[in-house]
Amino acid sequence: MHAIVINSTGGPEVLQYAEVDAPTPTEDQVLVEVLVAGVNYIDTYYRDGTYHSATPFIPGFEGTGRVIEDPRGEIAPGTMVAWENAFGSYAELVCVERDRMVAVPDDISPEIAGSMLLQGITAHYLTQGVYELDETSTCLITAGAGGVGLIATQMAKSLGATVYTVVSSDEKEELSYSAGADRVFRYSDGLAEEVRRFNGGGGVDVVYDGVGRDTFQESLEAVRPRGTVCLFGAASGPVEPIDPQVLNKHGSIFLTRPSIGAWTAEPGEYQMRAQAVVQAVTEGKLTFRVSGSYPLEKAAEAHRDLQSRKTTGSIVLKVKQEA
Ligand code: NDP
Repeated sequence: MHAIVINSTGGPEVLQYAEVDAPTPTEDQVLVEVLVAGVNYIDTYYRDGTYHSATPFIPGFEGTGRVIEDPRGEIAPGTMVAWENAFGSYAELVCVERDRMVAVPDDISPEIAGSMLLQGITAHYLTQGVYELDETSTCLITAGAGGVGLIATQMAKSLGATVYTVVSSDEKEELSYSAGADRVFRYSDGLAEEVRRFNGGGGVDVVYDGVGRDTFQESLEAVRPRGTVCLFGAASGPVEPIDPQVLNKHGSIFLTRPSIGAWTAEPGEYQMRAQAVVQAVTEGKLTFRVSGSYPLEKAAEAHRDLQSRKTTGSIVLKVKQEA
């Protein structure tokens, strides 16, 4: 089969299109023919070595496609499924854990199905797990026009929260407003002060910060006393270690660094969050914007675009041409 292979970690150029052996599923997995693979920021952390995997490896976690083989014979060949946790998804074939995938309804396109779960489940656990938003809540979301940002904004609005976002351009501002943001800010050293002023002087209940190094300080300052700073990513780079006393200084605030793994680990939790995403998409309550679709062999270009802040919403690799 064809796949993107990383022989040594580094920049986007290490994503090499190559011919490799097809994987063999265990009893707990099914073998799937990939139509579309989602491209997520976490893929760049594995590619550059921030997160470790032994080399050589095939990157990617997410996608959609047709079941080819189920060793237990439970899932019919041809069933369309989607997943967000199958390492090696930048490939024509991948093995997916049977309890970590969902059936894809006919009315969801492969591009959406291949990019809805990782960002959708993340937005779900952020807004309905890490901090349970309701109509009394006010939140700030960084990278409001990004993959997670657009979905988290829509979910937060559907829960009745007041949503502030921060973005880097006019186009992204427009997109963030159309996802429902009540107020869109630009990155600056005075971001927290601006947010507080707009919010009547007080800080927000929760900051969802996926940008990391460049925004973390403003996130600490934007949150109200006893509020929550949820640092869920590092698009601008990892945050420096901090002295816990800083949390006291900002008014006994909470700091958490959550992962999708921990927030889908309880029995039934993965399916609960995944099905909530699928249902919201099917009912038209959640709109995914796929702004870029690249052939599998152009994975390096997709990573370059993602990391240079060119993309909005989600981007995907089209693995099979019919997708
Ligand atoms: P995005 O589509 O949001 O892309 C990243 C965005 O970050 C950019 O578009 C850009 O938006 C913003 N950004 C700010 N500073 C920089 C910078 N220096 N370089 C690059 N981008 C920058 O990506 P995803 O939706 O895939 O992921 C968003 C974040 O969420 C990532 O940090 C990712 O690791 C994290 N994540 C965490 C998960 C978890 O469970 N913990 C799961 C999924 C994602 P702008 O130009 O508006 O600033």
